[in-house]
Order: sequence, then structure tokens, then C-alpha cells
Amino acid sequence: MGKKSSFLKTYLTNQLRVAEFALNNICTAKCQFCSIWKQKKKYNVDTAKALIAVSKLKSFGVRFITITGGEPLLHPHFAEIANHCTKENITTTTITADPRILNDKRIHILKQAEIDCMGISIDHHTDEVTYKARKIPHLIDGIKQAVKKLKENDILVTASILISDFNHSSLPTLFKKCEKLGFDSISLSYPVFSPSPTYTLGGDAIKLSRKDLITALKKVLRLKAEYDIVNPRHSIENIITYLRGENPRFPCLGGYRSFFVDWTFQVYPCMCHEKSMGNILTMNKNEIKKTSCNLCNMSWYRDFSIFFQGFKSLPPLFQELKRIIAF
Ligand code: SF4
Ligand code: SF4
Repeated sequence: MGKKSSFLKTYLTNQLRVAEFALNNICTAKCQFCSIWKQKKKYNVDTAKALIAVSKLKSFGVRFITITGGEPLLHPHFAEIANHCTKENITTTTITADPRILNDKRIHILKQAEIDCMGISIDHHTDEVTYKARKIPHLIDGIKQAVKKLKENDILVTASILISDFNHSSLPTLFKKCEKLGFDSISLSYPVFSPSPTYTLGGDAIKLSRKDLITALKKVLRLKAEYDIVNPRHSIENIITYLRGENPRFPCLGGYRSFFVDWTFQVYPCMCHEKSMGNILTMNKNEIKKTSCNLCNMSWYRDFSIFFQGFKSLPPLFQELKRIIAF
């Protein structure tokens, strides 16, 4: 059974789950909205245990994994872990903030592992501001070269954009730049302050008012007609409702349908939660409880959550069917 049929079968039998798996906390960027790069103790997950973790996640129903970090491609055995995801028929995406990492050898690894999509972070249409955001010089040209090489190797590449103070008022220009750089799609994250000591998100660059974020999201909804923005329309509207302080139609199912696994194999409902649900290597499926949450606007977890809510999920499902099947 291939990845697509495994994904669909698991969804149709109401077993599907998704996970983010952070392989390390090693970064080459010095991002203004995340302080993982400052963490003193550095980790790379043990490879043998990581393979067990992937199989364990599969046994929980996980058929979609985003391999993240730090910089996941800096894990010395990224290839083995990514190959194992594919062997388990798990749709797999990964991400980098630093296109200098995407040399020929690593692109070959991504191709061999049949990675389904590569995300590259981009914060602004100019080098000057991207440098402020990540402290990586000549980022725009680096992204251009990396996207070109990925596309020559038939690897889908998405522009991973965190809406922040750097870009919330210039999204149309940034999206246009992404198109020019050759990205296949755009994936948006929204500013979140995380109290988790593991995944430390925050800082002045993401201190957007709710009003500014709502304005930016409404603009994104309009831009969906022009660009391939992966965040579902229903999820964006749901998050706008949340930001207005109203009761959102779709609660987040982080901890029930989606998880974050860190570099010590602890499982959390998402990157924001401080309390671990257990260690993936020893956890049992029956420890996963049906739960819902409305504490934040984190896109990855909320975007997936809208598809697991019975009849309410039919409209987003029909709207996103083409993308789901294409993946
Ligand atoms: S956003 Fe990514 S690259 Fe930047 S500090 Fe955080 S983990 Fe590292
Ligand atoms: S709403 Fe936010 S804090 Fe709650 S589970 Fe979802 S992502 Fe985590």
C-alpha cells in the first residue's frame, strides 16, 4: 500500500493522526521569534530510537509527519529516519530555515527518501529584513538557488512564512516574491508565544495585536484566489473567530489527533504545551484521550483539526479534497 492509500484508508476508518517530530535543537539561524538556537544543551535524537518512534507513531494512526528541529537536515542520520517514514507509508514533509544546508548531497537524500514536500522559511521579500529576522546573510539568493535545485529534482517546495512584525503589512509583495522564487505553494504559521521550555517561541517580532493579525488573515483569505496557500480557508476563518474572542466552530484536537514529539522522545499535544503526555517509546495508544483545546492560534495543529469533526468537517473536506488527493 502506498502513502496516499494508507493515508486515505486510515482517515476513512477514523484512525488518522498527524505528528511533528523534532530531530534536534541545533540551528544555524538566530531567529528573532524562537530561542531554540540559544538552548545550551544540544540534542540529536538517537537514530535507532527514532526509527522505533516513527513505527510507534504509525501504530497510533499517524500517516503524516513533519520532520522538524532545530534544523532536521543537520541530524547525521536524517536519511535513515526519513527513509523509514517512507517505508512505513507515512507522508513526510520537512523544513529548513537555512537554504545553505540544502547542498547537492542533502537534496539527493531528500529525493531518495521520497520526501513529499520541503518547506523553506522566508520572512520578507528583501535580504535586509530577512537578515534581521534570521541573521543569515544573502538569504533571498540562497533560497532562489535551493528552490531551483529542489525543483530540478522534482521535489515539491513550499514557502514557509511566519506572519510577524516583519511582514504582516506586506504579505502581497512577499507572496509575489515567493512566486518569482519558484515556490510551488505557501504555508503560513501565525505568531504564538509558547510557554513550553522545550519549544521556546516568543519575542518582539511576533507581538502583533489581535487586530493586526485578523487584518493579515483577512488579506490571506483574499490572496488565496491568486496563490496556492495550503492553509484551509475554513481554518483561517476559524482562527479569526478565535482571535475575536468568540467561540470557534472547530476546537483544536492537539493531543488527540495531532502531536509534537521532541528530541528526547517526549510527546506533547503541540509545541506550546509544557506537560508531556509520555515518552513515545513507552506510551500506549490507549493513553491518548479524546480532548480539545482553544488556547492558541497555532496553524499546523488547528489546520489539521478541522478535518476530524464529523459532519462539521464535510465543508472543509470538500473544499480541500483536491489538495488532499494530490498529496
Ligand atoms: S525557528 Fe527554527 S531555525 Fe529558527 S531558532 Fe527556531 S528552531 Fe531554530
Ligand atoms: S489550541 Fe494551541 S495550545 Fe491548544 S492544543 Fe492546539 S496548538 Fe496546542
